[in-house]
Amino acid sequence: MTLRELTARQSVCRACPRLVAWREEVALIRRRAFRDEPYWGRPIPGWGSERPRLLIVGLAPAAHGGNRTGRIFTGDRSGDFLFASLYRTGFAVQPTSVAAGDGQRLVDARMVAAVRCAPPDNKPEPSERDTCAAWLVAELRLVAADLKVIVCLGGFAWQAMWPVLSRCGFALPRPRPAFGHGAEVRLTSAQAPDGVLLIGCYHPSQQNTFTGRVTPAMLDAIFTRARTAAGLAATG
Ligand code: SF4
Repeated sequence: MTLRELTARQSVCRACPRLVAWREEVALIRRRAFRDEPYWGRPIPGWGSERPRLLIVGLAPAAHGGNRTGRIFTGDRSGDFLFASLYRTGFAVQPTSVAAGDGQRLVDARMVAAVRCAPPDNKPEPSERDTCAAWLVAELRLVAADLKVIVCLGGFAWQAMWPVLSRCGFALPRPRPAFGHGAEVRLTSAQAPDGVLLIGCYHPSQQNTFTGRVTPAMLDAIFTRARTAAGLAATG
């Protein structure tokens, strides 16, 4: 399977009845500010480079962000914060990501969500995370050859990655390292004998950015570290 085929197959996935109902209801009712826009209302595919050095793993699309625009971290406040940092650190060509077709492009990086459909209250059930892991496993296998760094945005993504990494042949440490901002774990597999560095990063949710738990400097430090670990030239 190619990445294109993977995107096509997962875009019609209906494996989680609760999430299918929610993503479609939100797309039908819409938020007042977007009532004249068509909503995507389907699973959000991975997006970015097809041979990434860096994989960024988020939680799930926002109801009126990715679920509206059809592109991960696009059209919501979390995405605004994240893309500004990716631009400053050389992983994105523009500081904003507002809609598919806006000219935004990731460089040496790809983004995926641990759960590909928008969940109520941004809280997927463990069973939904486990069901959706199959898509993440398939995508990780397709991009593992060039991958050097995985940044997990938030504890949910950090936890969701362990079984995915195991299914992709990575040897996992025991006990599992705790999530933290800046936490690092080096993992190896037959596909990635030089290793992939897993980095924890607080999620740029409004709850975190409004309270100062995550600042632009903190996010920049993570992605600057990712650049170095991925063997990419420093920016600026
Ligand atoms: S969350 Fe994942 S597994 Fe569940 S319906 Fe959406 S794409 Fe399919």
